[in-house]
Amino acid sequence: RDLMLGTSILTILVNPFLFTAAELFGVSIALGAFFAGMILSESPLSQRAAEESLPLRDAFAVLFFVSVGMLFNPAVLLHEPVALALTVSVVLLSATAAFIIVRAAGYPLAMALMLGAGLAQIGEFSFILADLGIGLHLLPDLARDLMLGTSILTILVNPFLFTAAEALCRRLVPEAVPTPEEARAVAQVVLEPTTLTDHVVLVGYGRVGTLVADGLRKAGIPLLIIEEAEDAYERLRNSGHAFLHGNAAEDAVLAAANLPAARILFVAIPEAFEADQIVEQARRLNAALPIVARPHFDAQVEHLLKHGATAVVMGERELAHAMLAHAGAAA
Ligand code: AMP
Repeated sequence: RDLMLGTSILTILVNPFLFTAAELFGVSIALGAFFAGMILSESPLSQRAAEESLPLRDAFAVLFFVSVGMLFNPAVLLHEPVALALTVSVVLLSATAAFIIVRAAGYPLAMALMLGAGLAQIGEFSFILADLGIGLHLLPDLARDLMLGTSILTILVNPFLFTAAEALCRRLVPEAVPTPEEARAVAQVVLEPTTLTDHVVLVGYGRVGTLVADGLRKAGIPLLIIEEAEDAYERLRNSGHAFLHGNAAEDAVLAAANLPAARILFVAIPEAFEADQIVEQARRLNAALPIVARPHFDAQVEHLLKHGATAVVMGERELAHAMLAHAGAAA
């Protein structure tokens, strides 16, 4: 059901862009989809689209890599090694160019190295361009094979480049890169199990969570917040609330919240898929814990209750109640 909901919302959101782009500019549906994605990522709808498509993320990743694998012609490795080596070197040259530009703009060495390593990869846009080029008889079929070969090789090499760039940073500017021990220490500090008991655990410090947290503070009720986003994390650090920085759907994060001793759990996040997971895991950790969750669709209400939520509060229903109350007051 989550998959179908995600697909239908994404399709509804993206379709008008696709057809308009394809019809107006006479480009392929793939290029239209690419531009639609770019436009969507800049719009306020992007968060909603990303939320709804989260369950599809792994499916799309699998689809992408399976398609790339199926399109690739391994014979190119044997027959065109020189051309392939040249294409790979162009990608590496673009990484070097990025490094030089970042340094020339006065940014730190560590940033330039990591950016260079990050850009030493062929993007999926090149597949679309190659297809267009072949369709317009501007490129031979070999171009697609070379691009696919380069993309597979650079995807394989990229993690090693990152490790090398990090090692180089550590040697040249040791203070810029935390050692693995330091990184672990930071993670442990943030994820240190809470000592709170009889506390409220609140997942999400966004529009809803912030209001809940304010109310609990006024009531003097001990509170622990779990939040994953960097910007909310900054707000939390200044708020004085006890918090854990991480994804509440991860075992380690939820375990650090001392749910067995908590008085109630509020799951104030809009992502249906993750909320289900959190509720299910929390129920396993404490069979008697009251859990209040935040569904977005009628279908999700039943789902959350089935996974262990004791109560649900749906924004749309509360809005309707509040509007009706106004009507009652006016009458
Ligand atoms: P809002 O929809 O404005 O109430 O924001 C929801 C908040 O929940 C955002 O700040 C998200 O970063 C946060 N959030 C969403 N999913 C998770 C999660 N799995 N764990 C922790 N925080 C989350």
